[in-house]
Amino acid sequence: MNTAAGKVALITGGSRGIGAATAVRLAKDGADVAFTYNQSADRAAEVVEQIKAVGRRALAIQADSASAQAVQDAVSETVAEFGRLDILVNNAGAAVFAPITELSIADFDHIVNINVKAVFVASRAAAAHLTSGGRIITIGSCAATRVAGPAYSLYSLSKTALIGLTKGLARDLGAQGITANLIHPGPIDTEMNPADGPTADDNRAVVALGKYGEAWDVAAAVSYLAGESGRYVSGAELAVDGGYVV
Ligand code: NDP
Repeated sequence: MNTAAGKVALITGGSRGIGAATAVRLAKDGADVAFTYNQSADRAAEVVEQIKAVGRRALAIQADSASAQAVQDAVSETVAEFGRLDILVNNAGAAVFAPITELSIADFDHIVNINVKAVFVASRAAAAHLTSGGRIITIGSCAATRVAGPAYSLYSLSKTALIGLTKGLARDLGAQGITANLIHPGPIDTEMNPADGPTADDNRAVVALGKYGEAWDVAAAVSYLAGESGRYVSGAELAVDGGYVV
């Protein structure tokens, strides 16, 4: 079903993992899709081909989320290319997992710039273009509110900040018919958190379903929120975490 037919979506960090799955899913839903990437130009080109293969227009934009200007320009470039913007998916994220005594101020700035500031900047820029029916969907983390072990302080704080931002966006933009929502993935098998990685068994142990999710599981939740199905959902946190109940 073309639940996003005629829409234009911009996804940050769409060259791999959850962002790539979301780009293809929204294209299958009928949207033309722009996405950013930082380093993986070849992978981005593959995603462009997958979007085109389902008959939608695609645009890959090199834009480091650590740069507020680059993020802002990516929104402008999307609108310049496709003439509108309907769906923003704030997905690009980075992680530094270390005990507090081993984290530097530079680590803090890096993670907060990518995981928080870029979401603020993209949402602010998108809000100038979104109209009634518009969507801002942000990828947070189950670690925003539940910390199952050490070394999560910086990553968790960056994801917790998105709860307040999302609720504020929902309030600011609701009167214009624009929704803002936050998805909290649990362990999802990507290069950031591979299902055969060193912490994978620990992750599986705290998930009710006892296994990793796939990037497509999160993309499906984005699709739900992006389509008509999500029209009365705003300011919400949607867990896609297999039952991460710590
Ligand atoms: P991956 O590392 O697999 O992919 C990250 C994507 O974001 C890539 O396309 C990458 O592009 C892009 N990206 C990374 N840094 C930047 C940057 N500075 N500027 C622009 N793009 C960037 O991560 P996931 O798919 O696993 O994660 C996606 C989101 O989901 C993140 O926000 C993450 O925190 C969140 N999440 C993931 C979970 C998991 O278990 N996987 C669990 C909970 C939340 P490039 O290769 O070009 O750098």
